[in-house]
Amino acid sequence: MGYPLKIRGRIFTISPRRTIHNLFFLRAPQGVLWLNLPHMNDQLKAYTERYIELEAAVRQLIARKGNSLCSQCSCICCDAVMCIEAMKSPFLKLIHQQMDEYDAEKGFLTATGCALKKGRPSVCYEYFCDDHFYNQPDELHADVLKIIGSLLYHAIQNADGETSIDDIQTLEKLDLADFQSLEKNLSESFQALEIIQAFYRDGKMPDESLAFLKTIRIPEEFQ
Ligand code: SF4
Ligand code: SF4
Repeated sequence: MGYPLKIRGRIFTISPRRTIHNLFFLRAPQGVLWLNLPHMNDQLKAYTERYIELEAAVRQLIARKGNSLCSQCSCICCDAVMCIEAMKSPFLKLIHQQMDEYDAEKGFLTATGCALKKGRPSVCYEYFCDDHFYNQPDELHADVLKIIGSLLYHAIQNADGETSIDDIQTLEKLDLADFQSLEKNLSESFQALEIIQAFYRDGKMPDESLAFLKTIRIPEEFQ
């Protein structure tokens, strides 16, 4: 028996103990793989390449000690209902190019973790089970973890009005996305990333840095 979970206005049926996914155990950094797709316009190509860089950096932060509980988890919460987002989105398909690895029953989940090296749905990074927050040394670290999970979400907003780039349904419309907004969001995510990297390195969070981190949009369901 599953139970309904509303994520970004859509209702998913989730099986018990498999909430949304978050397969950190295979979130080890894969390096940046550059795209060479001739039909992409220059703005889409530039944005996509930087997005891949951001995704790799987010994975690195999630894989660090203290954040990587999923690697020892015996009850992985990935679910094909989430994986399918990576098959429906032309933007994510452009990134991962692993459509042939999708399985109707298991999605992208394999015995060794998520098959997607990049281009996972952003929700795959947004969700952290409670254990992650209990495991953080204090509230600030817990808030920072939540922001890490939202950096990709922030970067993809307002590609076409309220529509995020992963929700644009055709390649033609992708070419026409609002790259000015997208680049601004992406730059903000990178700026937040640098703040978080410095925080983990030095243990300091100046007030102005914290104020900036609070401008990163966190999906309503994970606030
Ligand atoms: S540790 Fe939590 S978030 Fe990670 S796979 Fe297990 S249940 Fe999911
Ligand atoms: S795409 Fe990968 S990380 Fe996301 S739910 Fe599916 S198997 Fe898990």
